[in-house]
Amino acid sequence: MDQVLDSGTKTATKPIISFRNVSKRWGSTVAVDNVSLDVEPGEFFALLGPSGCGKTTLLRMLAGLEVPTEGTILIDGQDMGNIPPNKRAVNMVFQSYAVFPHMTVADNVAYGLKIDGVPEQERARRVQEALDLVQLGHLAERMPDQLSGGQRQRVALARALVKKPKVLLLDEPLSALDAKLREAMRFELSQLQQKVGITFIMVTHDQNEALAIASRIAVMNKGSIAQLGTPSDLYEFPASRFVADFIGSVNMFEGTLIDDKPDEATVACPELEPYRIHVPHAVLGQESSNVWVAIRPEKMNLHKDADAPPTVPECPAAHNISKGEIQEISYLGEISIFHILLANGRLIRISRPNRSRFDQDNFGWGEKVWVSWGGTSPVVLQG
Ligand code: ATP
Repeated sequence: MDQVLDSGTKTATKPIISFRNVSKRWGSTVAVDNVSLDVEPGEFFALLGPSGCGKTTLLRMLAGLEVPTEGTILIDGQDMGNIPPNKRAVNMVFQSYAVFPHMTVADNVAYGLKIDGVPEQERARRVQEALDLVQLGHLAERMPDQLSGGQRQRVALARALVKKPKVLLLDEPLSALDAKLREAMRFELSQLQQKVGITFIMVTHDQNEALAIASRIAVMNKGSIAQLGTPSDLYEFPASRFVADFIGSVNMFEGTLIDDKPDEATVACPELEPYRIHVPHAVLGQESSNVWVAIRPEKMNLHKDADAPPTVPECPAAHNISKGEIQEISYLGEISIFHILLANGRLIRISRPNRSRFDQDNFGWGEKVWVSWGGTSPVVLQG
C-alpha cells in the first residue's frame, strides 16, 4: 500500500522527483517503509520528523549515497537504479557544511567545477555568479576561518549551486547556527530558492523551520509518511494525533462520539465533564467511537467572569466551555502562554497575543476563569 496521505493540492506538472514504493532496511531495522512521494519542479519541499524516522535515509537514497532495498527513485523521469551519485542531477549540502579549511572561499566554490574539467574562464565566471547569489562576492579571497558560521553556510550553498543541479538537497542546513542566525538564514534560504528557481529538498527535525520555509512538507514517522501537505494544511487539519502533536503545540482530549449527524457532532470528554465538545460537521458518521479532540492553544479564549459561563457562538449551551484556574503565565513578549488547571484537574495551555503594552496585566496567577472555544476550533481525530 502506498504510504501517501496528501492533504495538499496536486498539480498536473511532471514531478522532478518520484519515490515509488521505496524501502530501506538494515537487518531488522526498517529505516524507510514503502514510501511513495512526488516532488514538483520548483518546490521547496521539507522532510520533517523526529530523530530516527528515516528522513536522512530518504535524502541519501535520492543522492545515491544509499541503495534502496526495494522500490524505484526517478529524477526528472529517469530511473536512478544504476546511476552513481556524481551522475545524478542533484547536489547535497550537508549538516556540518564542511568547507575545505586550506582553500579560499572562491577555490572552495570552484573545486567541483575543476574536478569536472570546466575551463578556467567559465569556472571563474560561474564561481563569481554563485558567490554573488549568496551575497559573498566581496569575500571571495577570504579563508574559511575568517568567516562567520552563517557565511560558511553560504559558501557551502554556493559550492552546491555552482554545479547547477536540478535539485538541491539540504540535510539539516541550519542546525549548526545559533537561534538568531538560524531565523535570518531561513528567510535567506527561501529568497535564494525563489531566485534560482530550482527544487530544494530539506531534511529537518525542526517544525518551525519547515513551517517557515517549505511550500510542502512530508511529516515522517517510523519510516512512513504520516501526512503530506502545505504548512497550513498540516497545522490546521492534522490527520492524526502524531501530526497534531508533532506540528505546533496542542491540547488533546480523549472522548466518545455521542452524536454524529451530517451537520453537527458532539463528543463527550470525561476530562471536561460536565461539558461537551461540539463541532459543526459529521466526524465519522457513527456514534460510540473513541476519538481524540485536538485544540490549538491560540484557538481557545479566556474569560474573566468566574461566575457566569460565557456563551460560545453557534454552540449549544454547556458545550465548548470549562471552568479553570490560572496556574502560571509565561510572558514571551509578542504572546503570553497561560497554563490553566481545569475544574477536573486537567492542565491545558492557552496563548494570547499581547496587542497592547498593558495586556499582560489583564490576568493574574491563581485567578478563576472560564475557557471556551468556537465550534470550528477543534479537530476530531480517530482514536
Ligand atoms: P536524525 O534526525 O536523528 O538524523 P533521521 O530521521 O534522519 O534521524 P535516519 O538517519 O534516516 O533517521 O535513520 C533511520 C533509522 O535507520 C534509524 O533507526 C537509524 O538508526 C537507522 N540507520 C541509519 N543508517 C544506518 C546504517 N548505516 N546502518 C544501520 N542502521 C542505520
